[in-house]
Amino acid sequence: MKEVEVKCPLCGHEEIIEIHDMIEVHQDGALKNSVNSFEIFKYSCNSCQQSIPLVYPVTYHDIEKKLMIHFDPEISLDNPELIDVFEDRIEKTYDQLEGYTKRFVRDPDSLREKILIRDVQLDDRLIEILKAYYIYKVTEENPKIDLKQILFNHKEGVNSFVFISENTPMFATEISDIIMDRLETLYRQRILEVSHEDFMLVDLEWAYRVIDQKH
Ligand SMILES: [Zn+2]
Repeated sequence: MKEVEVKCPLCGHEEIIEIHDMIEVHQDGALKNSVNSFEIFKYSCNSCQQSIPLVYPVTYHDIEKKLMIHFDPEISLDNPELIDVFEDRIEKTYDQLEGYTKRFVRDPDSLREKILIRDVQLDDRLIEILKAYYIYKVTEENPKIDLKQILFNHKEGVNSFVFISENTPMFATEISDIIMDRLETLYRQRILEVSHEDFMLVDLEWAYRVIDQKH
């Protein structure tokens, strides 16, 4: 935990609160739920008692699943310095991270999504490639759609993508196992070629680079 000074945007009250810098889920199982519900990205103002959103960089760590995800809105491939500073800090704190899946994410939705993908034992790299495929398919069926976001979901054994667009109501498309197998076969080798042991930013842009062979 670390302390930060915050100012309530509603009543102007200033106070010092504690935020997480590392989320060690194996030490505190309830923390995982607070990530999923975005509770960790809120605090309660001590003066007006309102719940205030507060987004800050945080690292999620699950020893059992060998999963480490660093969330930072500023992280980008154009900002290698920030990546170096972070990887340096992690190297000094943890001496054994062999075999880990290490990811960067830039928004809380992606953090939650990556955790879910691992929980259902899927590969987030394949999921991003599948997203590219389903975006192509949905756009072909509805050329006027203005897509804002596409997120993986899993409910009662069914994998799906939720599409959020500016000009249509939110909808979901079930992910076909056949398509998943087909794309897995098609891209398995490419995925291995572009993967490495360090933290990777695996998002839709990454998937397009894999598909276009631009890595
Ligand atoms: Zn307040």
